[in-house]
Amino acid sequence: MAEKKPNLNMKNLNGGKSNAVRSVIFMFLVICLTMLFVSNMNQNIAQKAEVAISDVIMRANDPESNIAKITVSGNTVDVTLKGENQPTETSRKDGSGTLYDMGLKTLDEFCEGVSENEVSKCQQKYPVIEYKEDVNVWGIVLDVMLTILPIVAIVIFLSWMMRQATAANNQSMSFGKARAQLYGPDKKKVTFKDVAGNEAAKQDLTEIVDFLKNPKKYEKLGAKIPRGVLLAGDPGTGKTLMARAVAGEANVPFFSISGSEFAEMFVGVGASRVRDLFSKAKKNAPSIIFIDEIDAVAHKRDARGGAGREDEQTLNQILVEMDGFDNDSGVIVIAATNRVDMLDKALLRPGRFDRHVNVTLPERKDRLEILKVHFKGKPIEADVNLEALAKKTAGSSGADLANIANEAAITAAREGHKAISNADVTESFERVAIGPERKSKVMNEKERKITAYHEAGHAIVGHVLPDSDPVHKVTIIPRGMTGGVTWFLPPEDRSYKNVYELKDILARAMGGRVAEKLIFGTDAITTGASSDLRNVAELSKSMIIEEGMGSSLRNVVFPNEATGYYTITTGKPYSEKTAELIDAEVKKLSDEAAKRAEEVLKANKKVLDRLAEELLKHETLEEKELEPILKDAKLPITAKLYK
Ligand code: ADP
Ligand code: ZN
Ligand code: MG
Repeated sequence: MAEKKPNLNMKNLNGGKSNAVRSVIFMFLVICLTMLFVSNMNQNIAQKAEVAISDVIMRANDPESNIAKITVSGNTVDVTLKGENQPTETSRKDGSGTLYDMGLKTLDEFCEGVSENEVSKCQQKYPVIEYKEDVNVWGIVLDVMLTILPIVAIVIFLSWMMRQATAANNQSMSFGKARAQLYGPDKKKVTFKDVAGNEAAKQDLTEIVDFLKNPKKYEKLGAKIPRGVLLAGDPGTGKTLMARAVAGEANVPFFSISGSEFAEMFVGVGASRVRDLFSKAKKNAPSIIFIDEIDAVAHKRDARGGAGREDEQTLNQILVEMDGFDNDSGVIVIAATNRVDMLDKALLRPGRFDRHVNVTLPERKDRLEILKVHFKGKPIEADVNLEALAKKTAGSSGADLANIANEAAITAAREGHKAISNADVTESFERVAIGPERKSKVMNEKERKITAYHEAGHAIVGHVLPDSDPVHKVTIIPRGMTGGVTWFLPPEDRSYKNVYELKDILARAMGGRVAEKLIFGTDAITTGASSDLRNVAELSKSMIIEEGMGSSLRNVVFPNEATGYYTITTGKPYSEKTAELIDAEVKKLSDEAAKRAEEVLKANKKVLDRLAEELLKHETLEEKELEPILKDAKLPITAKLYK
């Protein structure tokens, strides 16, 4: 049961390469081989009965026995009976002695004392004795193979696994070789046209493009060509896209590597990678080196312990390489980060990343442009309203918007539509913001009723309080982890919020829990409010600590300065005494929010009942349907007094 500001922060969860699949295939192979091996043995056993050698010899010496042939190969003695053409019995003898040594009669002994004319008949009864010196080579080979193959397979598999693990760090044994991807002119070219909005950043980078295209122009005038450009901005704002666009516009090769790749490497590898990367880029000059997520290697060496030695070496190597650039090297290093505040100061000095380009979250008109870029080439119905979507998506990054466009296409395909409809777009927006609709989630009547009152509580408090955004939509259809959602939409994008507005946000977030309490009783409140309460806790804490909005802690903030006295001694950037003050201030804010919500809802009990009832009937109410219900809600004088 979330109270939702449309502020998306989507993470792309990429599953790694599936080692599990490989293991399964390997296990399958081993099982197959084992079965083959076992069945082979079984065959031998099944076909030949094991008998004692003394028994064989005794029977062979008896003219009335049914033994036709005895085959000796090595220590194995196979017995073929009369009327068979395959040995059906097998025996083993010890040592190198022959069967005669063990008491087998020779042919002459066998037929001793037989009358002249009976001899040939007697001789036919004597088993054929065959010594096979040339033992079955293939049989042995097969046996050996079947025995050692699984072992070999395991050894190969293990070494291959280790190689994979190494490769993940290292691209298979090429220690120190940069695994920089080259986006040459033949790779799908990205230009500034593909980057919507962010005009200021594009303008700054146009200059870089010109440096790369006409270096002479600048050299003649003795201008120092910039070496490093730092792209700073929130995740998903298009920094990577922007860097590629610079390469595309200048039509130069683009070597890219991510800081997080360095972080995974073995000791000493990072630095040599850097060396290799720079030498490649220099050979291909003019060119661009792009170091994505540079904060992964270039974070501040903090007060306790400092950055990892490995990171430090990598970082130093980057600095050394950049310092070693000639003015005409023609290589420009672009780095991107979401955390400028985390970067080591050494990186930002002149001659290094001294040009800063801020890539910002898009404003409404930029969001519209980005949406147009990503809906381009997708069939859309006439009713699709991208402007309304742009309005709803304040706080979303370019990546979020690209994601919405893609989800809309998926939704349309799933619904079997020929083109994307506005309903598909709305569904995908809500899906990306909160999660998929869960019609299947079972809610009994009681729970539906609680949810209806809960959401109605959010909506009424938000509607009534003067500095809250208007209510856009209320639904009790479960979505993602929530039982229902109340959406508030700012009429326009805003960069700042004042204390009045923030306090109204806190109060409307409390509206859900408070409505439950008023209708169902003090201890009938549910766990459906947990994410609301978490939001209240986070927002009120940041108001006190980061924004200086407390009443006793007004205009004081506590930046997390790594070298600060309290950070070093207590791990927090403030004293124990201040910590108590902060806790008290935070509690005061949430208590006040709950009290205001309660006053509003007590004064508007009838509207609350009516809205909950309508929600139970229709499940979802849009702005137009909410208006006639909410227009009767009034702001009680006490709730106003907190101003
Ligand atoms: P960052 O590197 O800042 O985290 P990316 O450059 O990786 O962000 O952006 C991710 C995706 O979001 C891009 O591939 C693109 O599809 C989309 N995107 C982000 N910003 C824009 C923009 N300004 N115009 C068009 N698409 C964008
Ligand atoms: Zn809620
Ligand atoms: Mg990126």
